Amino acid sequence: MGTIAENIEEIQREKAQAAERCGRNPEDILLIAVTKTRSAEEINEAIRAGVTDIGENRVQEIMDKYDKVLPVKWHMIGHLQTNKVKYIIDKVSLIHSVDSLRLAEEIDRRAAQHGRTMDILVEVNAAGDEAKFGVGPDSAEALISDILKNCENIRVRGLMTVAPYAENPEDVRPHFHRMRLLYDKIASEIVHPRLDFQYLSMGMSNDRNIAVEEGSTAIRVGTAIFGARNYR
Ligand SMILES: *Cc1c(COP(=O)(O)O)cnc(C)c1O
Repeated sequence: MGTIAENIEEIQREKAQAAERCGRNPEDILLIAVTKTRSAEEINEAIRAGVTDIGENRVQEIMDKYDKVLPVKWHMIGHLQTNKVKYIIDKVSLIHSVDSLRLAEEIDRRAAQHGRTMDILVEVNAAGDEAKFGVGPDSAEALISDILKNCENIRVRGLMTVAPYAENPEDVRPHFHRMRLLYDKIASEIVHPRLDFQYLSMGMSNDRNIAVEEGSTAIRVGTAIFGARNYR
């Protein structure tokens, strides 16, 4: 591992190479630095090195760090409990982890109170992994239709998935491939003013380049930037 800045540079270089291997524009793929367990100082180092977007998976960490971190776009990437939506509604620019109409309705209600439209992704459990959150691939389109019908203050911007951990990241390629097909299908089938697909959020430290090859437009990278996490 190098410094945080060196690691970011290397990740951007690999991202560009993976994009070029399949004829994509590297600029169409957002790097989200996943900052869970990291200090505000470490996060600011990443922002000074060019990171524009950061991802947290716990509401409490967003609240603790929000005022200590330089201006940046915050992403909620972890499971979100309905009763905690109110704490982050004015802080995050994209919620990646919507997996029920009930959660979407609470986001909608809180967004209305703040006079904003909230951008969300629907989390899909691509591998049918029982330990993971998200809706099954077959339920994603129906959930999106329900959200569009019931939640006026939400814009649906795409899909997110957490692939199962695999020793060999090639093993998760089929999941990413199916996610891309699902993303394209929904984007072509649902025509709605509040459906504006831009983000297919998939790929983490160990499988990010394969995710890019399979069509990811947002990779969420923690360990490869900051090193191994120490959970407190
Ligand atoms: C922690 C986390 C990541 C980043 O994982 P790394 O392996 O450290 O890159 C990405 N997405 C989600 C949802 C996470 O919780």
